[in-house]
Amino acid sequence: MIDLMGVSKTYKNGVHAIKNMTLHIDEGEFVYIIGPTGSGKSTFIKLIDGEEIPDSGTVIVAGTDVGKLKFKKVPYYRRNIGVVFQDYRLLPNLTIFENIAFALEAIGQDKATIRKRVREVLELVSLEEKARSFPRELSGGQQQRATIGRAIANKPKVLVADEPTGNLDPEKSNEIMRLLEKINEEEKTTVVMVTHDSTLVDEFKKRTIALEEGYVVADMMKGGYIKHE
Ligand code: ADP
Ligand code: ADP
Repeated sequence: MIDLMGVSKTYKNGVHAIKNMTLHIDEGEFVYIIGPTGSGKSTFIKLIDGEEIPDSGTVIVAGTDVGKLKFKKVPYYRRNIGVVFQDYRLLPNLTIFENIAFALEAIGQDKATIRKRVREVLELVSLEEKARSFPRELSGGQQQRATIGRAIANKPKVLVADEPTGNLDPEKSNEIMRLLEKINEEEKTTVVMVTHDSTLVDEFKKRTIALEEGYVVADMMKGGYIKHE
């Protein structure tokens, strides 16, 4: 599903964010990306979602050579990728239903299809009762579940989550993890999750890829957190 071959990314300021990286993530995998600040985690995600292109090497996601994408094709490519951030980024003036529907309207689906899928997604993220609520009326955990619902509404092949539990207490974080596992299993979505949360990584064991200074320094099938001081 995701293939990096000899990928390097240097920013204009001369920072080598990713160095000669080669790795493969299979369809249906659930992978953690860990590493200290500045190790290249965000850059890795940006290479996957087409925000950045590599200086050398190839990034192939769901059969697309992301580095070769024409600028105009990037929005179409992005439909394959659902993205979730630490700060929920829901549209404040739309209800939860509308926030999720918005993602589907943007790709031109008809009303009946949208309603059906939004209902399905609300059930998946356990927010049926909140369909008519606005984001500010929801707790942090509920807002993050809504964000995840929006990200998966159009059934992306890959779900990228950048510190999705960063603002949540342990109980809410576990809930988010179980939701991501459910999406991974039921929707067959490949999940790539950047995290600093060593407790989660130790508790919900997954393949864990550790970055340091732009290099992959560990790739463990049933993870475990590597502490950095
Ligand atoms: P995090 O590790 O939480 O993602 P960062 O501070 O690394 O936060 O990055 C926040 C944002 O700023 C990212 O989009 C990143 O690409 C960008 N960024 C980080 N460092 C620089 C920099 N030196 N110059 C310009 N943008 C940067
Ligand atoms: P992480 O997400 O692990 O914190 P990043 O990928 O954000 O790491 O950053 C890796 C390195 O690249 C850092 O040194 C950061 O300052 C630098 N960097 C990130 N984004 C930019 C940018 N847009 N311009 C310049 N330097 C950047």
